[in-house]
Amino acid sequence: MAGVTLRGVRKAFGPLQTIHGVDLDVGDGEFVVFVGPSGCGKSTLLRMIAGLEDVTAGEIAIGGRVVNDVEPADRGTAMVFQSYALYPHMTVGQNLSFGLRMNGNPTADTERRVAEAARILQIGPLLDRRPKALSGGQRQRVAIGRAIVREPEVFLFDEPLSNLDAELRVQMRVEIARLHGELGTTMVYVTHDQTEAMTLADRIVVLRAGRVEQVGRPLDLYDDPVNQFVAGFIGSPR
Ligand code: ADP
Ligand code: MG
Repeated sequence: MAGVTLRGVRKAFGPLQTIHGVDLDVGDGEFVVFVGPSGCGKSTLLRMIAGLEDVTAGEIAIGGRVVNDVEPADRGTAMVFQSYALYPHMTVGQNLSFGLRMNGNPTADTERRVAEAARILQIGPLLDRRPKALSGGQRQRVAIGRAIVREPEVFLFDEPLSNLDAELRVQMRVEIARLHGELGTTMVYVTHDQTEAMTLADRIVVLRAGRVEQVGRPLDLYDDPVNQFVAGFIGSPR
């Protein structure tokens, strides 16, 4: 397991400054949720932690190791996106094992990891199906399963439930909480859903235009937002 540290992290896309110096410590095993309006930089921050975007300035460390120059595959992170992007021609089992097989992971270990992910997500009976024969919620489970089989030190979720209908979103939220409870792995989770943030987070990070507006435990932010902007995002009555 590993925490994540951001020190003075900035991001520019050409002349456009997007992230303006973010400092943050995510504890080992902590569940931290990023919230903020569309375009405030939530995905960019997550992608920089994953190594899918370069850091323009500052430092990112995972488990105490600076990873600015470490390849995405070697960071110990696994990311779950809003779009499932499952391989349509492969079965669920093949979708789960594909990355490990490509990396030359030993077959027995791959099988063990796929079985474990299937157990955790209760998708064992679906392993021989193809994605088109799955419901939206089942597809999202497979997408999370693909992250689990990597046995990451840090899970990164970018609005993983926003394509699901309201009822399924609640179900999957409970699943993700259970996953965190069972594995105890560090999680950084982006959402624009207040309920998701309030119920999942150990701490919430409220972002505004590329800066951290406030960080705190859900009830502390609710009871004591630093300003109207935070209050609006957390849903506190003021
Ligand atoms: P959020 O996930 O909070 O909606 P993003 O991190 O996607 O926000 O985007 C933050 C800002 O960075 C936005 O202004 C967006 O237009 C810009 N941005 C994101 N990715 C790129 C890119 N590849 N090139 C240029 N600008 C980008
Ligand atoms: Mg985004």
